[in-house]
Amino acid sequence: MPTLQGTRIQCGCGERAVIHKTNRLSFDCADLYCKCKNPACGHVFVMSLYFSHTLSPSAKTTSQMAAELCKALPPEARQQLRQQLSMF
Ligand SMILES: [Zn+2]
Repeated sequence: MPTLQGTRIQCGCGERAVIHKTNRLSFDCADLYCKCKNPACGHVFVMSLYFSHTLSPSAKTTSQMAAELCKALPPEARQQLRQQLSMF
């Protein structure tokens, strides 16, 4: 599922606005609290962001993604995960 990273928001005045808070409502929906960077404007507003639909599915399978996540873990966390998985 996509998440927000470095999205640019523009205020109605044309200046960039920064996201100063993200209120995640669910796994695929969030409220973004934005503030205009223009000191003469100072508009503070909320944008809603939600995942709509997939146009082309990810080429990666769930198991591939899980394997890559495991590789990114430090050795002790990997060991812990292995113990947790052995319970199933
Ligand atoms: Zn503005």
